[in-house]
Amino acid sequence: MLITKKFIFHSSHFLPHYHGKCENLHGHTYKLVVTVEGPIGKDGLVIDFVLLEKIVNEHVIKHLDHHHLNDIITNSSAENIAVWIWEKLSTAMKSEKFMPSRVRLHEVRVWETPTSSAIYRGE
Ligand SMILES: [Zn+2]
Repeated sequence: MLITKKFIFHSSHFLPHYHGKCENLHGHTYKLVVTVEGPIGKDGLVIDFVLLEKIVNEHVIKHLDHHHLNDIITNSSAENIAVWIWEKLSTAMKSEKFMPSRVRLHEVRVWETPTSSAIYRGE
């Protein structure tokens, strides 16, 4: 079973190795969709949505929302943001004591615009 939760964050960035509009400082309203995978537990849930929201807010959204992404991720393309989020979340989920051990991170999808996104499923 796959479970998803959607988040919005607003950030500025520029692409240092790109030639075009995105090499200039600008902002996006990013959409993040986090997908976890696991079996349905005895409580009828794969994971409590509230717990998933808390983990993503604490470990990802808090650091990116209304921040300048290049201060955090040097080349802040949607692809690299997705990898950064994956690494933060996979570490956070392993150390979260309330996270059911049967649940794993499945996919991180970062929407930079309403029509453009990057999907990362780890290596
Ligand atoms: Zn951009």
